[in-house]
Amino acid sequence: MADRPYVFYELTNAICSICLHKVEAKIVIEGERVYMHKLCPTHGRERALISTDAAFYRQQRAFLKPGQLVKKFNTPIRHGCPYDCGICPDHEQHGCLTIVEVTDHCNLTCPICYAESGPHRPTHRSLERIEFMLDCVVRNEGEPDIVQISGGEPTLHPQFFEILDAARRRPIKHLMVNTNGLRIAQDAAFAERLASYMPGFEVYLQFDSLRADALRDLRGADLRAIREQALERLDRLKVSTTLVVTLKKGVNDDEIGDIVAFALQHPCIRGVTLQPVQVAGRTENFNPARDRLTLGEVRQSLLRQTPWLKPQDVLPVPCHPDCLAMAYALKIGGEVIPLTGLIDPELLLTSDGSAIAYERSPALREQIFKTFSTGHAPAMQALSLKQLLCCLPLASAPEQLTYENIFRILIVQFMDAHSLDVRSVKRSCVHIVHPDGRVIPFDTFNLFYRDGREAQLNPRRHQWPAAAAD
Ligand code: SF4
Ligand code: SF4
Ligand SMILES: [Zn+2]
Repeated sequence: MADRPYVFYELTNAICSICLHKVEAKIVIEGERVYMHKLCPTHGRERALISTDAAFYRQQRAFLKPGQLVKKFNTPIRHGCPYDCGICPDHEQHGCLTIVEVTDHCNLTCPICYAESGPHRPTHRSLERIEFMLDCVVRNEGEPDIVQISGGEPTLHPQFFEILDAARRRPIKHLMVNTNGLRIAQDAAFAERLASYMPGFEVYLQFDSLRADALRDLRGADLRAIREQALERLDRLKVSTTLVVTLKKGVNDDEIGDIVAFALQHPCIRGVTLQPVQVAGRTENFNPARDRLTLGEVRQSLLRQTPWLKPQDVLPVPCHPDCLAMAYALKIGGEVIPLTGLIDPELLLTSDGSAIAYERSPALREQIFKTFSTGHAPAMQALSLKQLLCCLPLASAPEQLTYENIFRILIVQFMDAHSLDVRSVKRSCVHIVHPDGRVIPFDTFNLFYRDGREAQLNPRRHQWPAAAAD
């Protein structure tokens, strides 16, 4: 009797990366690696790498918690997931972060832009449409944790500040602007006005590399001077900033440690978000077989390149543990102290040293889940981290722990046509508003719903149950 060369771990649904039909998929573990094996009746077999860290893949399941629902579902269940977005009643998680794209226009033409933005796309959404989209976020979330104004390049919208004012009039806890930083670097008055939205405001600054060649590969331009100028202004104006690093294998994934160290030198920076390229939209020079990075691999690189972080510091985020992992550290008096430096290691480690032993302490488990679950809502972060530290023996949290003391490293993986797992996408908590008012998980939006892509799908072939012979 021959053995399979892998362990068959579970069965799920996925999509064929060529025709985007729903297909059955086996998740298999081969040594340290996790793969998805798919079979499309038309396009045959497909094998996609899901993780390079089988132990962490298993650990991600230990972080599941009951989903929190949106206040209102927006679409009926008709064809079956992922063709009913959304949010349809089958979705398991509300939006921790909701994106509102205000323009298709951009002053860059990045070779990896999922929105295919650029100077050639002049269209800005009207203020009226944007107000409607903001109302859709409030309709779904009540008091949204984070709304991110995005594009294109949102700072180029002629009514940009009116958009921020419109967002401010709504009960949004934390407002972010996703930007390439050009306008902040080049327009002092603009940066000053931006700073007037603090607190409860954050710049989500594109920052992929400290090297010219990597920036040219990812962004089509050497943006080092622009980034420096923008950060100098944001530091001076004390504007909370997160660096967003789009990672491409072999281009900038060796720079994670350097970028984290760089971020720690800037007082305005609250954290770094590491985001592997999603194979969607414009993906020039991108070979999926060669260039796809998984969350597991990014986490391994982060740990290798950032010696002060231990594996127990970088944990799955319970609202969507397949796609989000996070590390917390405190910045206190010029020092950076990771979570493991604050918590009794006995409480964090199992006997084999591999995982959190929170099972031993239900109160700790609850507090860790709470702290990591509210990872997207900065106003809550300081509070829940403080509560976590308060109930722990080794904790020496400063009395006045604020958002300025927090340094957060977040790994965000968006699924693409290769890796989409229907089991997991139902938990997506990064949502985006369609201009027609639907709110859609970001992963499926780029695959099926952006720029009218769904019209190109053949709905008959996606009927539920699907007709395989169609
Ligand atoms: S991803 Fe969520 S919203 Fe979209 S079809 Fe599936 S369950 Fe519904
Ligand atoms: S990735 Fe961002 S900066 Fe680059 S073209 Fe797209 S919208 Fe513009
Ligand atoms: Zn197919």
